[in-house]
Amino acid sequence: MTAPRACILVVEDNPLNLKLAKTLLELDGYEVVSASDADEALAKLEERVPQLVLLDIQLPGMDGVELTRKLRGDPRFASLTIVATTAYAMKGDDERFLAEGFDGYIPKPIEQGTFGREVEKYLGRSRAAPQPENPP
Ligand code: MN
Repeated sequence: MTAPRACILVVEDNPLNLKLAKTLLELDGYEVVSASDADEALAKLEERVPQLVLLDIQLPGMDGVELTRKLRGDPRFASLTIVATTAYAMKGDDERFLAEGFDGYIPKPIEQGTFGREVEKYLGRSRAAPQPENPP
């Protein structure tokens, strides 16, 4: 029996960014669920709670900040690990994203050399890590 793979929800409206993130994450062995806007993300979260959400800030309609606010107000998602992905990260943004309810952020464009480690770092912090089915 292999350990259950961590599930990651990627919310991204740019098809190329989504494809790159999905490809890299799948190569690292993660199960990837994707959504192209906040409403689709909410629908996917109703079906299944992932170990990590990579959430684009700039989305059509409800943006990533608004979606995170909404999720944090729901007890089911209060401790979900949510990481912002944005091309507009600037010095001091760490604090801003943390204050908005994110666990951190990963700047875009995605750096293929460091993306996997960044994701691993946030998964390690996950408060929703899957429990082994047969504890030792
Ligand atoms: Mn976007």
